[in-house]
Amino acid sequence: MMSLCDKTAAELHDMLMKRQCSAKEVLEDVVKRAESVQRKLNCYITYNENSLKQAEEADRMLAAGEGVTMLTGIPIAVKDNISTKGLRTTCASKMLEKYIPPYDATVIERLKAAGAVITGKTNMDEFAMGSASDTGIFGRVVNPIKEGFSAGGSSGGSAAAAASGAAVLALGSDTGGSVRQPASFCGIVGFCPSYGSVSRYGLIAFASSLDRIGSFGKNVSDTYFLHNIINGYDAKDVTSVRKNFSSELKDTLNGTRIGIPKEIFDSYMSEEVEGCISNALRIMEKSGAKLVTVSIPSVRDAVKAYYIISSAEASSNLARYDGVRYGHRSADASDISELYKKSRTEGFGVEVKRRIMLGTFALSEGYSDAYYKRAAVLRSRLCREYDEAFQHCDIIASPVYPDASISFSEPHKLTDLYSADIFTVPSSLAELPAISIPCGKSNDGFPVGLQLIGRKYDDGTVFNTAYGFELSGGTYGQY
Ligand code: GLN
Repeated sequence: MMSLCDKTAAELHDMLMKRQCSAKEVLEDVVKRAESVQRKLNCYITYNENSLKQAEEADRMLAAGEGVTMLTGIPIAVKDNISTKGLRTTCASKMLEKYIPPYDATVIERLKAAGAVITGKTNMDEFAMGSASDTGIFGRVVNPIKEGFSAGGSSGGSAAAAASGAAVLALGSDTGGSVRQPASFCGIVGFCPSYGSVSRYGLIAFASSLDRIGSFGKNVSDTYFLHNIINGYDAKDVTSVRKNFSSELKDTLNGTRIGIPKEIFDSYMSEEVEGCISNALRIMEKSGAKLVTVSIPSVRDAVKAYYIISSAEASSNLARYDGVRYGHRSADASDISELYKKSRTEGFGVEVKRRIMLGTFALSEGYSDAYYKRAAVLRSRLCREYDEAFQHCDIIASPVYPDASISFSEPHKLTDLYSADIFTVPSSLAELPAISIPCGKSNDGFPVGLQLIGRKYDDGTVFNTAYGFELSGGTYGQY
């Protein structure tokens, strides 16, 4: 019989409603799995000591029929840059190694109100900067499919946990692809919502104009249930928007116009990735979708603009870690400026320092016109090109990542890792919703993700198209 931890949230919800199992039993099975895979995958940083209490509370809600939602009693893992009251939140950084937030992020408040059970906090790249979950102080996250390979990043811990049964669902953050890319590597679904549709209150900032909280699930509907609970207006986030989100999944492939941006398909991707994506497009066409070629020329320069803008914002956001208010404080500083310098030198890792330096440079007097302003202009142009493309299509399809995996044993050049973000950063800069859904496998058995990008605030069409693809038998992930 299939273990409880390998079931989808929808299946577990059904069983919980029929009293075929309790939330406590589901949690115990997930914890057992987490403990057995943790050594190999390293997906968790901290377990939630209150999870059992939360499961008991869920059982009470279920028994009383009070406030029951799709997530009541469902174990969910949370990326370690999302604040959890009383539960250590480190951003995988020495800077926050001992930080215990005094409040919950809005998404956590919503999960708790829905009766969800938080399993723990997941491993990631330091301050969410990276693509392989290998820049944090707690070590790398290993892909559940094969040892020696990355689970992707920066939300690698959340993706690996949800893919391996160490959680049923998971939350991540996506600034330039960090939910979509690890979902692709681990063979699950990862959704990055329209900017502003999920509150960022309590998400520890990397690049505020790009950061979003995204959802992971084994399939489209599970991911949708999670997003449905965390999504919605929040007065505590000034960039939060009031938008209605459809409450039902529909298969809408028939008649959907799928845009194929020629500049994306002219870019480098491995043969295997190309094969899987072409096959996915054929499947969607057979199910009634229409493929149309569109043009978004600025995607070619999107990586450069992304690294300038995100690093500029990071340099400003991370200025708060000064060793005075909270975070790591150097033990041997003789005056205040030495305290700043030593605390930051000791507290941040190499990648974070690199981004702070790059960002400070791009914003400095005499250079900001040449770098930051040009990147901002490119960002506006990119948005206009997407608007124009969406006159001719409802959804834009693309790969998630040029390769199916990242090996830990082949040292990768940093600039190669940055340029490989080419397929995910354009929609991040344009604030658009996007999903990664498994669509095939490489020769070595690594899953390959298809990315579907929607119009701003049209998150519903992204889900519906992905659902249509899943129903037409398109998925070849883990499940
Ligand atoms: N790989 C990208 C970066 O390193 C994406 C990170 C993210 O989305 N958090 O910036």
